[in-house]
Amino acid sequence: MTRGFLDYQSGAPVDPRVVEAMLPYMTEHHGNPAVLHSVGDVSRQAIDAARAQVAAFLSADPSEIYFTAGATEANNMALKGAASRLRKKGKHIISTVIEHRSVITPLKYLQREGFEVTSLPVDSEAFVDPAAVRDAIRDDTILVSVGMANSEVGTIEPVGEIASIARENGVLFHTDIVAAQAWIPVDVATLPFDLVTLSSNDIYGPKGMGALYVRKATRIEALIHGGGQESGLRSGTENVPGIVGFGKAAELALASMKDDVARIKPMRDRLIDELLKMPYTTLNGPRERRLPGNANVRFAYIEGESLILSLDMEGIQAASGSACSTKTLEPSYVQLAMGIKHEEAHGSLELTLGRWTTDEDVNMVLAALPPIVERLREMSAFKPGMDYDKEEFRKHEH
Ligand code: PMP
Repeated sequence: MTRGFLDYQSGAPVDPRVVEAMLPYMTEHHGNPAVLHSVGDVSRQAIDAARAQVAAFLSADPSEIYFTAGATEANNMALKGAASRLRKKGKHIISTVIEHRSVITPLKYLQREGFEVTSLPVDSEAFVDPAAVRDAIRDDTILVSVGMANSEVGTIEPVGEIASIARENGVLFHTDIVAAQAWIPVDVATLPFDLVTLSSNDIYGPKGMGALYVRKATRIEALIHGGGQESGLRSGTENVPGIVGFGKAAELALASMKDDVARIKPMRDRLIDELLKMPYTTLNGPRERRLPGNANVRFAYIEGESLILSLDMEGIQAASGSACSTKTLEPSYVQLAMGIKHEEAHGSLELTLGRWTTDEDVNMVLAALPPIVERLREMSAFKPGMDYDKEEFRKHEH
């Protein structure tokens, strides 16, 4: 893997063992899984095996796993599919202001279709308050959707507690676990999750692959209609190599999650500790209950966009605002929701570590950053003491 790559969250490399598993399904095993002959049967069996691997990842039953073309589609399927199915029961949905855009945007669509959405705020570390969820539930609430962790600032949400509150009130609970799934085991046999969004790339599988877990008794409407694949919930000839790759990635992730966390978290801790020694530097998100691969800090008085380009010139890839969104100079809506000011949010740097990160990557960043930050500060229109130089920055001044 390329050294200096610290943007796992936006695009992780595919594990070579996954590539190896996929290759035969792009060459000799080309059959359509829907047909009756033996060539198609090879593909059918491969899909069945992958479905069992992804199910095992969640301790689910294979019949509860529906493959999709990515997490965006799975989120759309969960939200629109549940809303459409339950519209006669009620039209109220609860979510939060920091969800990924693939949750926020379908919810906006549903609002235009006549649903009412309560978007709960978060605190300064991006935590959602379970009591606020309880208070927001009404007689006509049909669905609660809260992501397991925030991909940008790394906050791990109390989704178990929130899901229990939803369950007690007879309300469906959906969670997008994409940001968390490489780090935190999820067991749907014990957690009251009804709908769970998964992504393949976030566990080092191919991009454009995802899945929705739908608990057995839960009924949702299909988003894509056609030939009836995926038990009628997601039509279209299956992406066999993608599904095989996702299955292999899930098997590997389940086996190595503990080891990955044990190796990566100390590197991430060192990264955060060293970054916070730099002047006017603040951690975005919590120190505890934080994704083990996420470091996100903001440097006052500079712009994150120029930081990303300068780091890239040194052979280091990082992210500024929210990963996976379109290239925009708008500050992160997640950070604004945490109460971070517009100008401060612009100076944020998100570094995400993964399976092939080494101490060398961390050393590269720690060597390259201080002179870049110093140079950008000299060029910046914002100077220490201006406008947003409040308590928070002063305590990091050296
Ligand atoms: N949910 C979360 C939390 C994400 O970080 C992402 C982007 N990786 C998505 C959903 C959407 O995934 P995709 O772009 O692969 O559909």
